Amino acid sequence: MKVFKFGGASVRDAGGVKNVLKVLEGEGINEKLIVISAMGKTTNALEEVVKDYLQKGQFNDALQPVKEYHREILLGLFENKDHIAFAQVRDIFQELENFLNHNRSTNYDFVYDQVVIYGELLSTNIVSTYFSSRGIKNDLLDARNCIRTDSTYRDAQVQWDETQAQIKLKVNPKSLTITQGFIGGDPNNFSTTLGREGSDYTAGIFAYCLNADSVTIWKDVPGVLNADPRAFENPHLLEQISYEEAIELAFYGASVIHPKTLQPLQRKEIPLFVKSFLNPGNPGTAVRKGQPILPKIPCFIVKKDQVLISLSSLDFSFILEKNISEIFSLFHKYQIKVDLIQNSAISFSVCIDNKFNNLEKLINHLKATFRVSYNTGVSLYTIRHFDEKAVEALEKDKKILLKQTTRETVQLVAIP
Ligand code: ADP
Ligand code: ASP
Ligand code: MG
Repeated sequence: MKVFKFGGASVRDAGGVKNVLKVLEGEGINEKLIVISAMGKTTNALEEVVKDYLQKGQFNDALQPVKEYHREILLGLFENKDHIAFAQVRDIFQELENFLNHNRSTNYDFVYDQVVIYGELLSTNIVSTYFSSRGIKNDLLDARNCIRTDSTYRDAQVQWDETQAQIKLKVNPKSLTITQGFIGGDPNNFSTTLGREGSDYTAGIFAYCLNADSVTIWKDVPGVLNADPRAFENPHLLEQISYEEAIELAFYGASVIHPKTLQPLQRKEIPLFVKSFLNPGNPGTAVRKGQPILPKIPCFIVKKDQVLISLSSLDFSFILEKNISEIFSLFHKYQIKVDLIQNSAISFSVCIDNKFNNLEKLINHLKATFRVSYNTGVSLYTIRHFDEKAVEALEKDKKILLKQTTRETVQLVAIP
């Protein structure tokens, strides 16, 4: 069987949903598990619902556009306004509102997960009902019953044994299964999420547990490119790369694949294809074991809105292992994602991703022990397989705060 993943861009409107069916018909309907993300930018919109709810004590203003957006898609898919799809979507929104009206928790991460998962519940419900209306039999599976996690809300860790057992039990590999990306369930059956853009990872988990033949991630780009088309001109398609290369690219911030996706696939040597949902006949990118990058060209990655922190000891004594381990335990405590590290005798610099908005708390804590300076809003640029020309082109017009070169990779922390 094969696992397919369709992201938000592929189902951002009714035409997109229809196209998903077209792609699937081209590939064969059965023996597929398809993982679907929230439609378009729904997760962002639901993040606004959470913010309003916890900061202003109301959610209607932020929720209304989400309702209208999904209704618009339904109208494009079902001619008859009495179709059961409309009532189902109304019920899902009702369930969300019931949660918001009865919840007493002020724990941001907990509330966040209980709310944003509705994006995926809505999208999969709509796609499944649409498929059924077109005569395509499918099983709609609640991923929360399969992807079992701990209770680290917004960054839930998969409990592999239980997840494996539930997937074996609940998925029929012979038929067509539709399920949600990104979401899981904790031991108390509260909803959890695997981190933003985590649907790719869900596809990897299902593929691992089902010993799938392959995973295909369907994108609005031809495949993995040597540069993010939103940030760099004239990117080229990478026809093939190894798991290691894909992990490195994803880790440095190539947002085309979620970094956690590759590990489960690599362990079972399940190939990953990244292909265009607009041109499904084109080969896209193949990620497999050990194959060299083709073509071998420099790859450019940018992570925007990062923070560069520099620490030195208050008395200019050396920064030693003990300090470093103390610093890292604080990063762990405040869920700080570390991108790059550089240290000298008396200073320690680190580029971080302030994903969980805990920077202020971290800085205050660090100030107790260290002299701290930091720049927010910096960009981390990475070139894999660099050559001089590539580095020169990248350095032009930028204020470089830090540069690090290893055998295959150059990294720059720069403004902008
Ligand atoms: P999804 O709909 O699956 O969520 P995303 O928008 O998260 O899709 O990811 C696809 C986008 O990733 C592309 O539209 C592209 O702008 C961006 N991207 C960033 N880096 C790369 C890269 N190296 N190759 C291809 N796309 C990239
Ligand atoms: N819907 C989630 C997000 O936007 C997960 C995903 O798209 O992969 O982050
Ligand atoms: Mg995405």
